[in-house]
Amino acid sequence: MIPASFDYVRATSLDQVIGLLQGDPDGIKLVAGGHSLIPTLKLRLASPALLVDIRGLDDLRCITIGEQIRIGALTTHAELLASTPLREVLPIFHQAGSLIADPQVRNRGTIGGSLANADPAADWPAVVIALNAEIELAGPQGRRRVAARDFFVDIMTTALALDEILVAVHITRPRPDTQFRYRKIRHPASGYAVVGVAFALGLTDNTVSDAAIGITGATGHAFAAEAAAKAVIGQPLTAETIEAAAKLAGEQADCLSDHYASADYRRHLIRTEVARGLTSFKAD
Ligand SMILES: Cc1cc2nc3c(=O)[nH]c(=O)nc-3n(C[C@H](O)[C@H](O)[C@H](O)COP(=O)(O)OP(=O)(O)OC[C@H]3O[C@@H](n4cnc5c(N)ncnc54)[C@H](O)[C@@H]3O)c2cc1C
Repeated sequence: MIPASFDYVRATSLDQVIGLLQGDPDGIKLVAGGHSLIPTLKLRLASPALLVDIRGLDDLRCITIGEQIRIGALTTHAELLASTPLREVLPIFHQAGSLIADPQVRNRGTIGGSLANADPAADWPAVVIALNAEIELAGPQGRRRVAARDFFVDIMTTALALDEILVAVHITRPRPDTQFRYRKIRHPASGYAVVGVAFALGLTDNTVSDAAIGITGATGHAFAAEAAAKAVIGQPLTAETIEAAAKLAGEQADCLSDHYASADYRRHLIRTEVARGLTSFKAD
């Protein structure tokens, strides 16, 4: 449980980080909150030659709310949870943030670290997919944005190149009729999602005008449940439309299996959680 030795640099600018990454992208790890990286180093699942601590890059710690909402990569889970202006516009950050781990983890862990780490059971990936967010990356060629639904590629693998750093998350301000939910079945030991489902639904008189559903925990990476979302758009939320959408979400998922939850059980949880989430929007 002792990491291999490494050098350590406390970065003072984004250009410095990108310059270092360009020099030896394989031998470097960025460290933000450290709550995923440090255990990885202790288990020697990674042994970088150099750790670049990015916590001093204050420009990456922000929540800016306008027509576009910009969340800097170094914003902690606790800061997202505590932001009243963010909660007013996008309450899903409060709904999901309150279900992440415990106060100690929430005080250190960052949204950028969580997204870059792409743990299949992390919560924020489902949320940014449901919000149709864009992830801003910076590298030697400049900046680029990747749609959240294309960002997560495989288990702990993203669209981030080795010489890039995740800078921010961008979300278009939702229409006033949009409502949000985040539901999670927690692993009893770790608190991570066995299945987590994020919903953003435009609703007028119980008819769905727009829908996006992000699912985490069940598969190798978070994904957009597109067939399920399409199945409710233009429809009233009835027991039949909800059941049809939940079934489609389960069918789309190529579920993981482990000693805690089989693939079939995870698929079952997707169906029940999508159905419960959609039912919670339904006018009685
Ligand atoms: C006990 C415990 C319980 C937890 N429970 C949950 C939970 O319920 N739900 C949940 O979602 N998460 C959970 N987590 C994970 C926690 O949220 C982590 O903090 C988070 O996943 C990683 O964020 P970090 O800032 O600590 O990243 P770090 O550990 O610093 O970094 C993680 C990885 O991302 C890279 N990285 C970090 N920042 C950037 C960046 N800006 N650009 C590019 N690469 C970057 C690092 O190089 C590293 O590879 C838990 C963690 C612990 C220890």
